[in-house]
Amino acid sequence: MPEPVNNPYLRLEVDLSAIAANLAALRRRLPAGGRVAAVVKADAYGHGLVPVARRLLAEGVEALAVATWPEGRVLRAAGIAAPVLVMLGCQPHEAAEVVSLDLTPVVARPACLQALAAAAAGQGKTARCQLKVDTGMGRLGLAPAEVPGLLRQAAALPSLEITGLVSHLAEGGDPASRHAGRQGARLAGLLAELRDQGHRLADSSLCGTGGLLVPPWPGEPAAGLHRLGIGLYGGRPHDNAPAEAGLITAMRLTSRLIQVRPLAAGGGVSYGRTWIAPRDTLLGAVPVGYSDGYPRAASNRGVMLVAGRPAPIRGRVCMNLTMIDLGHLDPPPRAGEPVVLLGSQGSQAIDLDQLAGWGGTIGYDLACSLGRANPRHYL
Ligand SMILES: *Cc1c(COP(=O)(O)O)cnc(C)c1O
Repeated sequence: MPEPVNNPYLRLEVDLSAIAANLAALRRRLPAGGRVAAVVKADAYGHGLVPVARRLLAEGVEALAVATWPEGRVLRAAGIAAPVLVMLGCQPHEAAEVVSLDLTPVVARPACLQALAAAAAGQGKTARCQLKVDTGMGRLGLAPAEVPGLLRQAAALPSLEITGLVSHLAEGGDPASRHAGRQGARLAGLLAELRDQGHRLADSSLCGTGGLLVPPWPGEPAAGLHRLGIGLYGGRPHDNAPAEAGLITAMRLTSRLIQVRPLAAGGGVSYGRTWIAPRDTLLGAVPVGYSDGYPRAASNRGVMLVAGRPAPIRGRVCMNLTMIDLGHLDPPPRAGEPVVLLGSQGSQAIDLDQLAGWGGTIGYDLACSLGRANPRHYL
């Protein structure tokens, strides 16, 4: 494959110390005995799987969590020996490889348990896994009522150890949600029943970032392995999530003006002429567009920062170009002047959720898009 050709006019930086600071801020909210599985799926939400995993482990996270087992293989190949939760589990035919990599799949089907136990027995090992329980997310998982029977069956498989139950909140981070409390109560009830039957399940967890940010704590298991993702990267898990958590956007996206030109009143800008200048102004060309992961839906909505001031996007965001209004800046900026698309400049800042909002999406999605499209520079 030919090397990808990168946009030479754009720089995407990842501030690993911001991720470390976000971890510390989230840890302060952990209940007593709580541990962290740092979620680094999807290339660490676009921030880079291995560099982010290394830094988080250096900062003391107890485990990592990925979506698919090949992501776990990449971590092992990088020499990372920490526990790795695989949230999509594995299919029976993948069990041998997952066991040989010492990954911890989150299993949603009885057939997968049998396959893991058989693979582990064949390799002279104990396979570790968790069970995915749907307490009200309506997505992947076992019904709570299936779990006790399955644990009884698994007890007969000496090469298999089930370390916890994973459940996921449908409305995590929303202070108005009553459903989160119901889910918490269901998981707590199930865990209490299972503990009475002698199961420890010490690594169980309900909360992602959202569940951690919104009190009251939605039930058990406080001392489990909390799966924290978006907060580490400085994003909010929900529009209504409390902003006082002090999380910092870890990505910074910058460029430079490649042209500055006057635009007379009545002049239209970019494809479809969706913005017509109401008065004479000054237009700047920023050589970044949707092929760089910048959201096209930010057309006529978003701003960029130039000379420490917001400069509104005019007209449509194109594949490689976006036009911004510089008419309010004195002195007028010139070609070559820095532009901040994500991050701070002077006293102004654009955070991940703001840009995602202009783009009609969420921070999770925007971070993945930016990370997929661009090489990253680590600070
Ligand atoms: C992605 C994911 C998380 C992390 O959620 P954040 O909102 O990013 O903290 C936790 N659990 C599961 C099952 C997930 O898929």
